[in-house]
Amino acid sequence: MIRIGIVGLGKIARDQHLPAIAESADFVLAATASRNARAEDVAAYADLDAMLAAEPDLHAVALCQPPQVRHAAARAAIAAGKHVFLEKPPGATLSEVEDLADAAAQARVTLFASWHSRFAAGVEPARAWLADKAIERIAIEWKEDVRQWHPGQDWIWQPGGLGVFDPGINALSILTRLVPGPVRLEEAQLAFPENREAPIAATLAMRTSAGAPICATFDWRQTGRQSWNIEVKTDAGVLLLADGGNTLLIDGAAQALPGEAEYPSLYAHFARLIAERRSDVDVSPLRLVADAFLTGRRSSTDAFHD
Ligand code: NAP
Repeated sequence: MIRIGIVGLGKIARDQHLPAIAESADFVLAATASRNARAEDVAAYADLDAMLAAEPDLHAVALCQPPQVRHAAARAAIAAGKHVFLEKPPGATLSEVEDLADAAAQARVTLFASWHSRFAAGVEPARAWLADKAIERIAIEWKEDVRQWHPGQDWIWQPGGLGVFDPGINALSILTRLVPGPVRLEEAQLAFPENREAPIAATLAMRTSAGAPICATFDWRQTGRQSWNIEVKTDAGVLLLADGGNTLLIDGAAQALPGEAEYPSLYAHFARLIAERRSDVDVSPLRLVADAFLTGRRSSTDAFHD
C-alpha cells in the first residue's frame, strides 16, 4: 500500500480525495496537513513541513490547496522524496509547473498533474468514436453558478486563482484529450467584475491543428440549469459530451458508459504511474488559459459580491 498524505483539507479533498483513498486498493491515508481542518482517526498536522518531518514513511502526497501555493508545497514534497499528486490546475503559472516536472525527474519521483474531467466516463469513449472522423467544428458551453460551487473562495478571484477558468479549464482538459494535435487559441474576450482580479466570464475562439473552429463560452453567472457541454460536429454525425463528460450522446442517442468515477480512476492512474516510475504532466489546458490571459480583450462588468 502507498502511504499518502493530503494537504489542504477543503471542498475537493473532503468531497472526492478522502472517499477515493478510502476505497482504493493501492493507497492508505496516513496523515493530513491543513491549518483549519482535520480528518477523523488520521494523524493531523498544521502544514506540510510538519507532516514531512513527523511522517518519514510517507510515500506520496496529494496537494489540494489553491493553485497559488502549490508550487512551494510540491517542491518541498519532491525534495523529501515523495511522489506528488497535483490537483488541477497544476500551478498558477506554466513556468512553475515546468520547474516541478524537472525537479521530479531529477529526484526520480512521480509527478501527476491531474485533470479530473479527463477521467469522466464519456471522455475515452468519445475520443475513440472521434478517432476516425473528420471534425468540422466544436462548441463548448461551460456555464455554472459561482455562488453555488465556490462560495466564499477568495483565492479563486485573486491573481493565479483563474476565476471562471477554474471550471473552464476542465472543459479545456477534455478538449485537448479529444482532439488530435495541438489546439491553438486565436482570440479571447474576458469579462472582469470591477471589484475582482479574475474573470467571471470568457469567450475563446480556437482551432484544431486541422483547422476546425472551436468556440468556448465560460460563464459563472448561470442560475437554474447548469451546462457543462461539448458538442463536436463531424463528417459522420454529432457527438455531445454533457454533464462535464459523464453523459455521451451520438446523433442524440445516449451511449452506454463504463461505471468508473473520476477520482477512483485518478488514484488508480497515480498508482500505475508510481509503479512504472513515470510522471504525467500535460500543461496544454493551462497553456490555453495562459494564452487567453496573454491575448484576451478585457472588459469590466458589474461588481461581484458573494
Ligand atoms: P477550498 O475549499 O478553498 O480548499 C482549499 C484548502 O486549501 C483550504 O480549505 C485550506 O485549508 C487550504 N489552503 C492552504 N493554503 C491556502 C491559501 N493560501 N488560501 C486558501 N486555502 C488554503 O478549495 P477547493 O474547492 O477544495 O479547491 C482546491 C483545488 O482543487 C483548486 O485548485 C480547485 O481548482 C481544485 N478542484 C476543486 C473542485 C471543486 O469542486 N471544488 C473540483 C476539482 C478540483 P486550511 O485552511 O485548513 O489550510
